[in-house]
Amino acid sequence: MTSSVSPVPEPNAPVSPVSVTVDAVEHSVDFVRPRLRARAARRVALYAGVQINGAPHVGTNVMQTAAFLLAAAARDRLGVAAELRFGALDNAPHDTRVCPRTGTRYTRSYHHALGPARTEELVKRFYGGLFDALTALTGVPYTVETYTRQQHSPAFREEFLASLGRWEELRWTLAPSSGHVPISFPCPQCGWLQKAGEHTELLEAGERGARFAAVCLDHGRYETDVRPDGEAWLGLTTLHRNLVKERLADRDEAMPVIVKGADWAPGCRLLDEAFLCFPGAHPPARVFTPVVLSASGAKLSKSLMREGRAELSPGTPPWMLYATRWEGTAQRYAVTLHRLVSLMLSDPRHFERGYTTSELARMWTESETGRPA
Ligand SMILES: [Zn+2]
Repeated sequence: MTSSVSPVPEPNAPVSPVSVTVDAVEHSVDFVRPRLRARAARRVALYAGVQINGAPHVGTNVMQTAAFLLAAAARDRLGVAAELRFGALDNAPHDTRVCPRTGTRYTRSYHHALGPARTEELVKRFYGGLFDALTALTGVPYTVETYTRQQHSPAFREEFLASLGRWEELRWTLAPSSGHVPISFPCPQCGWLQKAGEHTELLEAGERGARFAAVCLDHGRYETDVRPDGEAWLGLTTLHRNLVKERLADRDEAMPVIVKGADWAPGCRLLDEAFLCFPGAHPPARVFTPVVLSASGAKLSKSLMREGRAELSPGTPPWMLYATRWEGTAQRYAVTLHRLVSLMLSDPRHFERGYTTSELARMWTESETGRPA
């Protein structure tokens, strides 16, 4: 038994309520320790996402900075080698069309609209400077892999085929309201696909392959073969895609740690349930990071901003919504984020909560100047 001693608060620290993990968790990276011990792992790989459909907002950058700092904490506190693997979501829709006759929505992904070279440019432009600076500050190496590259690997396809093998159970964890989990494949001639896969038909499936039929707005019916060594591009729903990615990550010698914003907690509850559909499988270690909120308490959201419904706190600086509008250097941005997220990680009670943009602006000024705002 140890008695609970409140840590001395940092001068710029936020004021946070006691969290439910008080006395159980001293540092948020300790969430990783149970799986680490069970696996006797000596290396960890932290997985986080990279949005490429527009300039990131500060909430995305807070999550990514937290991933670097958590990796550094895993190395220093848990004594394991730690690296960071970012997944770039080039499957995000770039264009949308609606069939005038049936109302079916067709989309074309960033990958299909821009191709790999321009996608890579986007990743560099939005994240290159920040990630390189964070590597220099933390000593944590990182890699970025697009979804397109990742889904191309035979192991990814094997895990996708394995999910079809348990489909009757899985589809109700991945879509508990309807049991309907759309799968879609781009038209081989034009790259457009039915977003909700209304007309996708599974013709046959086995361990080594599956055959689907689908319909294109312009080119009619086509068939796609999915084999471990095949070329088909898999369009999966968010939860299904994450399940396959996490199952794939679990094959690696480095133990996977999934880092996501806290808004992901309900979805991860379903992913954990989906993991349990595989005999002997364990859900991966997960760490949730603080979400950045608008005035109403809703998470900062690109789509709400585009629709003009984001209800931002007064005085939210424009660069918090579009990181590319930051007028200082990438180095200064990274150093300030590093300080600010270190403050959040200084006590689990500051990490297991959300921050409005106005509170973040206050902490930002203090982190930049080292003085109270
Ligand atoms: Zn087509």
